Amino acid sequence: MLKTLLLGLSRTPAVKSFVVAFPLTRRVVDRFVAGETVEDCLRTTRALLDDGLLVTIDFLGEDTTTATQADRVTDIYVELLDLLGREGLADRVEVSIKLSALGSLLKSGYELALDNARVICTAAERTGTTVTVDMEDHTTTDATLRTVTTLRRQYPWVAAVVQSMLYRTSADCLKQTGQGDRVRLCKGAYAEPAEVAHRPKNAVDRNYRRCATILLQGEGRPLFATHDAAMIEHVLSEAGRLDRAIDSYEMQMLLGIRADEQRRLAGLGHPVRVYVPFGTDWYAYFMRRLAERPANVVFLLRALFERPKKRQVQSGF
Ligand SMILES: Cc1cc2nc3c(=O)[nH]c(=O)nc-3n(C[C@H](O)[C@H](O)[C@H](O)COP(=O)(O)OP(=O)(O)OC[C@H]3O[C@@H](n4cnc5c(N)ncnc54)[C@H](O)[C@@H]3O)c2cc1C
Repeated sequence: MLKTLLLGLSRTPAVKSFVVAFPLTRRVVDRFVAGETVEDCLRTTRALLDDGLLVTIDFLGEDTTTATQADRVTDIYVELLDLLGREGLADRVEVSIKLSALGSLLKSGYELALDNARVICTAAERTGTTVTVDMEDHTTTDATLRTVTTLRRQYPWVAAVVQSMLYRTSADCLKQTGQGDRVRLCKGAYAEPAEVAHRPKNAVDRNYRRCATILLQGEGRPLFATHDAAMIEHVLSEAGRLDRAIDSYEMQMLLGIRADEQRRLAGLGHPVRVYVPFGTDWYAYFMRRLAERPANVVFLLRALFERPKKRQVQSGF
């Protein structure tokens, strides 16, 4: 109920204006977002690399409404990729992109997004790193997977994302088990109708396990994006059963969530990649993180209420 409400609000402009303008929200946002600038992002990235983790960087923003904005997002990714190359980080840092940030919702739609994604992939290839195309809500799944298929003809290392909440996902996994296929498996962060998606958590989890096994049985490089201890345990035990080399798949988690577990798995020798978002357009991303865990809303409310106390103390000096 709360989850559905928060996901609904993540696409409500009036609430966005209120939340974004509220200065205290930032304290909670900072847990999940690396900062607003490329420098902030690189600082966070370096700290994660120092701890033996890998990184995928997301320039925040989605549902772009003008071609100029889509071009700007593309330029920022290209500059970022060139910088990663100059800084010698390209072997451990890649980027995640959203097609709706690259113009897929505009009139020319996926053609524009594909052109922009090609520009980003060319920069990634020049730099020596890879790109993952994030998955958005179910209305975009077919077009996003088609776009990834087109990109892979030229850039076979482009990763797709599939969501275990969708009924279709085991079939999508079966189509991507070829040698070198990079596929990120996550549960799915969007509010989806019962016609297309499992709603109970145990059904989403059951499908995650099924899809994880399909990907591990294939010849690709699965990227397991989850913080769920039961999913992690399933992946590791299936990887062992199927004799998978420890570096033939990745575990992935979001910045600010289960940081200890990220380091524990990396310490055991698993490649662990942290998703690092940065930029000013954090609202929708932040609301999805709140929706995933109602306790985060309590965390937010506490931050809002604690502030006046601090002010009183300060004004006492
Ligand atoms: C690297 C990465 C990339 C992703 N890319 C996409 C994408 O392209 N498209 C998409 O739809 N979704 C994406 N997601 C989000 C994903 O679909 C889930 O919404 C999210 O990961 C929560 O699911 P979970 O597997 O962690 O399991 P859950 O059952 O939701 O959570 C398991 C446990 O993890 C912890 N946890 C989970 N979320 C939070 C949170 N927000 N705050 C604090 N603790 C939390 C809690 O301890 C919770 O009990 C991505 C996730 C990751 C890690």
